[in-house]
Amino acid sequence: MPTIRGLFPLLAAAMLLCSGAASTQSKPVLRPNIVIFLVDDMGWQDCSVPFLKERTPLNDRYRTPAMERLAASGVKMTSAYTSPVCTPSRVSMITGMNVTRHHVVNWTSPFRDRNTDNPDRQLQPVTWNQNGLSPVAGVPGTIHATPLPWLLNRAGYYTIHVGKAHWGSSGTPGSSPLALGFQVNIAGQSTGHPQSYLGEDNYGNVQPKWSINAVSDMQEYHGSGTFLTEALTREALRALDAPIRNGQPFFLHLSHYAVHTPIMADRRYLQRYLDQGLDSTEAAYATLVEGMDKSLGDLLDFLRDRKVEDNTLIIFLSDNGGLSLAPPRGGKPFTHNLPLRAGKGSVYEGGIRDPVLIRWPGVTKPGTAIDVPVHVDDLFPTLLDAARITDARPLQTVDGQSLVPLLAGRRRDLGERTFYWHYPVKWIDNDGPGINFHSALRRGDWKLVVSLRTGKKELYNMRDDIREEKDLSAARPELVRELSTLLGRRLREMGSPMPRIRETGAVVSYPDEN
Ligand code: CA
Repeated sequence: MPTIRGLFPLLAAAMLLCSGAASTQSKPVLRPNIVIFLVDDMGWQDCSVPFLKERTPLNDRYRTPAMERLAASGVKMTSAYTSPVCTPSRVSMITGMNVTRHHVVNWTSPFRDRNTDNPDRQLQPVTWNQNGLSPVAGVPGTIHATPLPWLLNRAGYYTIHVGKAHWGSSGTPGSSPLALGFQVNIAGQSTGHPQSYLGEDNYGNVQPKWSINAVSDMQEYHGSGTFLTEALTREALRALDAPIRNGQPFFLHLSHYAVHTPIMADRRYLQRYLDQGLDSTEAAYATLVEGMDKSLGDLLDFLRDRKVEDNTLIIFLSDNGGLSLAPPRGGKPFTHNLPLRAGKGSVYEGGIRDPVLIRWPGVTKPGTAIDVPVHVDDLFPTLLDAARITDARPLQTVDGQSLVPLLAGRRRDLGERTFYWHYPVKWIDNDGPGINFHSALRRGDWKLVVSLRTGKKELYNMRDDIREEKDLSAARPELVRELSTLLGRRLREMGSPMPRIRETGAVVSYPDEN
């Protein structure tokens, strides 16, 4: 039996007592159950569900029947966005803050006070909230905010986290999902990937070569041959039994370590992809995808069989675009999200466009698609709205908007919105397409991409050119100026970290300064 820590930390309990939350529990339960099904590093094309109008070769490569089932019974969000890497998106997801505001601009190290930015000859590393999210004040290098699970729990939800957490560094409160408002935490810690997906490897808990990336809590499956994705799914379903039996609304955050590296084959599915002629790495990657999809199918079956599916809101998403560095991927670099350009770490669409599916019976219209641009920042206000929590009063200013009017068909769009991306760090040794020191903005159909290193600006029309192949900056200088002003103003107003030039110590130009 894995260690399921069913008690709040003292801190959260104290916050709960101060909130007067108990009064909400006596009301009849009208709130939907909520499931966030989060996949790590899954690309927009890593599925058999077409998120473009036409099917692509990658849609034919991957096999995700449960995603097809969810899409057929829910809504496909075809222009949904995240940050280019993990922790920035995860922090936005449970705080509603955009990365330009929360300043967790890169993935957090499992070790406290460690900047994960790579050194660069031209630019200094920026100072950012490198310890991640904190539910308490005064922790250096963190953003202090009120997390979504804590608010849901205060409102009477039974809150469960399963899988990858990666909200904060070890030795800070945010490293534990329990401190963020989850009552149950299974295998969530400060790390961003598993040491191993294999039960035979005890998921990395192998003496004497212990690694901080060894997955916690799953001792029951050690040596069992159970792939990590499968083991986490079984534990998630087991954890749901208590709230379902008690008729308590639940919030399940099922956050798979898949499909992040290490790319290891789930042997149940391997032969199909080898038979397609994929190289061994890409075949293994496809098995990570199919294993994730099997988990989704098991969850959908479970909700149906336990007769709670009609009152359960499910949101399926990834935390950033698909990895397109090769190696560690097989095949050619930067081809893994085609027709989208580049991949994880990039502000081009391959790094930030997210395969989002939402099903809320009685609210969403089955088998439909919504092309209105939305952002991972929107999840926090959306779920508070869905749970009918009107007195949340979070500490932080929320950048996202509730998607409920859109999902319910009450509105066709959410007005003219501007989305910002800010990745002022060096992620990989050599700059790749849109990777290292970039910011971007989308307003309406227009997207501005800015290199903070060179000052170069590109302009794309997302309606006509999803591939970002036709740079229109020379043809539309006034529009470039207008969007650059918006982006520059935002970065200054938010005090977003900006790189400095090593030689002079000066801050690089803001987008509206050149
Ligand atoms: Ca990720």
